[in-house]
Formats: sequence, structure tokens, C-alpha cells
Amino acid sequence: MRTLPAAFAAYRWAPSTKELALRFGLDPVDIVRFDGNVPAWPAASARPANVAAALARVNEYAHGGYPELLRAIADYAGVEPENIVLGAGADDLILLCARAFAGPGDQVAIAEEPTYPLYAIAAALAGAEVGSDDPVVTFCCRPNNPTGSLGPLPSARPLVVDEAYWEYAGDTAAGLIDEGVVVLRTFSKAFGLAGARVGYALADADTAAELNRRQAPLAVSTTSAALALAGLADPPDVTEQVDERNRLTRALTALGLDPLPSRTNFLFVPLDDPEDVGQTLLRRGLVVRVFPDGIRFNVRDREDDDLLLEGLAHALDRPAPVAPAGARTTRALRATAETRIRVRLSLNGASRVRVATGTGLYDHLFEQLAFHAGFDLVLEGVGDLETGPHHTVEDTALALGEALDRALGDRRGIARYGDAVVPMDDALARASIDLGGRAWADVRLEREPGLAQHALQSLAQAGRLALHVESSGRDEHHVAEAAFKAVGRALRVAVHAEGAGIPSTKGVL
Ligand code: PMP
Repeated sequence: MRTLPAAFAAYRWAPSTKELALRFGLDPVDIVRFDGNVPAWPAASARPANVAAALARVNEYAHGGYPELLRAIADYAGVEPENIVLGAGADDLILLCARAFAGPGDQVAIAEEPTYPLYAIAAALAGAEVGSDDPVVTFCCRPNNPTGSLGPLPSARPLVVDEAYWEYAGDTAAGLIDEGVVVLRTFSKAFGLAGARVGYALADADTAAELNRRQAPLAVSTTSAALALAGLADPPDVTEQVDERNRLTRALTALGLDPLPSRTNFLFVPLDDPEDVGQTLLRRGLVVRVFPDGIRFNVRDREDDDLLLEGLAHALDRPAPVAPAGARTTRALRATAETRIRVRLSLNGASRVRVATGTGLYDHLFEQLAFHAGFDLVLEGVGDLETGPHHTVEDTALALGEALDRALGDRRGIARYGDAVVPMDDALARASIDLGGRAWADVRLEREPGLAQHALQSLAQAGRLALHVESSGRDEHHVAEAAFKAVGRALRVAVHAEGAGIPSTKGVL
């Protein structure tokens, strides 16, 4: 092999979630990763149904490449298909650009430091050196990783602009592809498809053709191309992420920290002792990226980001700027071929509830149940609603039941029994619950909007609880809603922590 420069350092991945869990004696579901600069969850379009057709033909090559994907990217980026080069992530295209433009004896310039380390790696792998003495190509990360800043566009040409995070900043150099600029983009960030490894370069037609000649044949798999195409059918709206980043920035400032202004989905916080802070956070299962002069972490969502704020306050021995997370808390992800449901549940909550699975009425019913139980609950997901709400409602109930079972742990110290009577206009519901650990459901709704009874039965099954519910009235929605509220009220009583003992004369549950 050709020797690499003595100072060459290969790209290094952070340890896996499994490895971190083992090292810190935690359950892998309690590890929260803030170190990948990716969204907390996949896009709604990343579902088995959208790769089914590609899987059915996975024995074949994509003869002729991916014209549909090229067309869709061209429309998204405001260029033509002949301006596009596909790659296995932006990383693949960084390596391609380096070897296409540079070789032994050449200098490759890097616009700003610190920046994404792969430009220097790619230059070395191409046999070139990093330097600004008449460089054959310049790499620029815009917005920049790890600082999050959107610096001025260098005037150097040829110029490769890495726009991995451009959706968050809304500023692009794509209009300059006819002036010696190559733009690199990815589906790993705003599109939430990092595992699929799809990126693209935008360049003038001649440069794109030359890059394509030097690219591996079919660098992108058929299943990944299908995911990217499904993502482009409904491109991401980053408004919520940007709002959450701004909230997180304000909370960090309230904590006495000084985060750098960011135009991305992550924040860089300068610290005196980043290594110590990183280790303290890791012991709580919170994974950030440690740099010599600070830490970097990506925005997830309010609940996860509040965990990080609490962890940082603890690490710095300062009062937390957010309310503490409720006790008896659990996180869970339930994924089947039909649905993907994620749950965060805290039994000692304050009725902070968000349910969003797209099932309308049933989301509302689960919200009512959790609210009246006094839980904190985030229950989000996607399902094959095109086949009807059945799978999604059932899996939502099962996911909630599993989370309840986990949050109850060995069920030591709980009241165990609970009951409630809830009137709602014309409807009257009565619910009784035993959290003794044996599943039983006797649910009688005089009228049924469709799946309410089945949802409560599924909850009882997965939550290992005995549930007796009776509800009657003139309006089916009222009958169901009163039943869910009564179950919530009964749960509130049954989960109540009363002592330390096993709530059974048998001594076991
Ligand atoms: N460029 C930058 C600036 C990045 O931060 C990253 C990922 N961390 C990449 C490129 C790599 O993206 P991809 O997953 O598309 O290879």
C-alpha cells in the first residue's frame, strides 16, 4: 500500500450505544445520544412500506441508476438531473471531490478551523497535503461543524461547499455551481436518514459528469434510494427544530453558559473542563461530543433537551433552569413492520402530555387517559394509516402498556388498586384496576367509535393489569372518552406510591 502521512489520523466513530450502556451500567434505552448531529427520530416517510418495492427486487442491480431520485433531487435543489452526483452520504462525496481534484504534490485548502475533520482525511487519502499555497481545491463547511456558524463564502475556486446542514440555515451556494463551486448535501441531517447513507453533489454539468466518471458504480443502494425518494415527497420542515434550538440556547444562557450562535441543529458550548463535564453527562446516559475547548450536542426535543439541561446543571453544580423530570420514568420504542411508536412516560408527572400518531380520536383518548392519570407522556409515531387506524391504535396501546409495566418496575410500594367513576354529559363510565401483574380485560362500552375497547384491552395486556370498565351513554365519543378518563383516574390511584413493600399478602406480585 501507498504510505499515509505519519500524522494521518483515520476518522473515529464514538462508541456504540450498547457499548456505552455496558460501560456505565445503564439500559441502552436510557442512553440519549446528542453526539451525531442528527434528528432525534426518523422522518415519518422512513417506513417499511416505502422500501417494500425495492426489497422485492433487491436481487437486481439498479440498471440505469436512479433517474427518479435524480429528478426529485433536481426539483428540490432547483437544478437539473445532469447537475447531480449521488454518493453514499456527503462523506463519500468529500472523498470523491478530494481524489478528483487533488493528487500527490498538490495542496488542498480548508477554509476554516476547527471544522469537519474529513476534508483533511480526504486530502491525505488522495496523496495531497493540506495547505493554502496555490491550492488545487478549497473545502468549506457552511454552516460549519462544530461551531454552527454561517461564515462568509470564500472566493477561492474551485470551491467545495459542504452544506450538510443547509436546511437549518436556509443559505446555499447552489446558485454558484456555474462559477466553479461544487455543493455537497446529505439526507443524513434534516431528512433523518443518516443510516441510509445518501448524499448528493451539485455541480455544473461538465464537472458533475467528470465526478460521476470517478464515482463508484451505484454508490447508493436501492433501499436507500427508495428512502430518499420517499423523503423528498414530503421534505422536512425544520421550524420546530430551530425553535427548540433557540429555546435550548436561552436555557443554556440562563444556566450561565455561553453557547455559540448556531445556524444548525446543534450547539457548541465553550467550557474550561469539557472532558469532566462530558464524563459526568455520560454517567447519566447523556452522550455529547467533547472537544478540547468545549462540548457540542445536537437538538433533540424538549423532553430530551431538558434532560441534558438538568445533567449540565448537575455537572456544573448550578440550579437547573428547567423543572426536574418526573420520577418512575421510562423510554421505549416499539417498532413493527406496520408502525413505529416511541414513548416517554413518567408516572410522577404533572399531566404534561403529547400524543401524536395520526389517529385523531384515539390520540385524543390516550391524551385524556394520561392527563387524568397525572402522567407525563410523550407518545409519538407513525403507522400504516393507509390501511386504517387499527395497527396504529393497537401498537400505541401496547407501547403505552409496555412503558407502564417498565416504569412500575417491581411494583413495590404502589397502592395497586384503583377505581373511578367519570360522568361526561350523557355518558357514565366506571373503571377498576388491579396492578397486581396479571393481565385481564373486561371492557364493556355501550357504544364504540371503532377501536376504543380493543385499545383498552391491549393496554391491559401489555401493562399486565386487570381492567374492568363499563361505560354507557347516547354518544359513542362520550362513551369512549368517559371510559378513557375513568381508566386514567383509576390508574392515578393505583400507581400511587404508598410505601416500600410488595402490595400483596403473598409477598410477591
Ligand atoms: N459534512 C458535515 C459537515 C458533517 O457534519 C457530516 C456528518 N457528521 C457529514 C458531512 C457526513 O454526512 P453523511 O452522513 O452524509 O456522510
